Amino acid sequence: MASALLPILASSSAPLADATAADVRLADGEHSTERLTDSHGRILTDLRLSVTDRCNYRCVYCRSGEDGIEYSELPLQEYARMLRVFVSLGIEKIRLTGGEPLLRTGLLDLIRETAQMRPAFTDVPLDIALTTNGHLLAPLAKPLKDAGLSRITVSMDAVDSETFTRITRVPRSFERVRDGIRAAQDAGLGPVKVNCVLLRGFNDGQIEAFAEFSRNEGVIVRFIEFMPLEEDRTWSPDTVIPMREIVARLQAWRPLVALEPNHASETARRYTFEDGIGEIGIIAPVSNPFCGHCSRVRLTADGKLRTCLFSQTDHDLLGQLRGGATDDEMRAWIRRVVLRKEARHHIGEPGFLKPSRSMVHIGG
Ligand code: SAM
Repeated sequence: MASALLPILASSSAPLADATAADVRLADGEHSTERLTDSHGRILTDLRLSVTDRCNYRCVYCRSGEDGIEYSELPLQEYARMLRVFVSLGIEKIRLTGGEPLLRTGLLDLIRETAQMRPAFTDVPLDIALTTNGHLLAPLAKPLKDAGLSRITVSMDAVDSETFTRITRVPRSFERVRDGIRAAQDAGLGPVKVNCVLLRGFNDGQIEAFAEFSRNEGVIVRFIEFMPLEEDRTWSPDTVIPMREIVARLQAWRPLVALEPNHASETARRYTFEDGIGEIGIIAPVSNPFCGHCSRVRLTADGKLRTCLFSQTDHDLLGQLRGGATDDEMRAWIRRVVLRKEARHHIGEPGFLKPSRSMVHIGG
């Protein structure tokens, strides 16, 4: 096994928190009686946690290739405590991301501990998902599933080796990611979602090949519109492949059949083909924003709470935790912060300001 994998497989000698597994299920009195809401009436049920800023890829549209890690990582015990507090406020879905989360030592321990937590307002078990570039996934898929991971999303921006290397700037990466996807399907983490950010003149020639990939591999392919969240300044409206263009291209290739959304806050428009084989989702934050249904908050690797991808500021949850706040005090603080969640983003509007951090330093 490659030595690069050893950190994540390594188990920390001490449990993540002082609590035993049984204690992790909060006593009823510790659960909030009111949902976590913002001032626009949206209920927050999804949390994305970045566990590291580091990444082993340098995707041309995401990272400059020169900037390294910018923000520190926290001990996993601190993430676990924050997660517990959020779950007690009604968070039902947790997505672990980064940077590249599979680079993080002890990730399996964090997943194991998170899997013990019970959402406050439903009997449905906590949904624990992971977003990864898939480079280290093949040997980790089964351990991730065994630790309690529910689902996995793999980012993959081309289905041919040459284009893939041009985007990631890491040779022979496509085959590793494809093997990672197959291993995740075999481990019971399927159907795997494969996310592709399309950039005009770069990988927009791959739309039909991705549809074929979905049909052949049994994965859900999701095309995501490129947003102004990069370290460099590559974004312009012309670089975005809008949803209507993707739909037209697929329609010309094979007639599409629209599928119902899975739930009200579903971000993707879903399609299959007339024979029911393959699934395509299109996520269109630029041409069809879905902010009105946003149910997300984010925690950065350095413990800052962000209420929107495009926030101009973040909020120091770690400062609360290290300053000695009790769980109740943290809950009250989170409620106050979340109340001021932004109504929507302003991509493409005059005066649009880039967010205070790029995607890789927020957690995608
Ligand atoms: N390393 C992990 C991965 O590759 O999935 C997690 C972090 S990565 C920043 C998360 C996702 O953000 C990836 O799917 C990536 O394609 C997407 N992403 C990065 N920059 C983006 C941008 N400017 N617009 C839209 N998506 C972006």
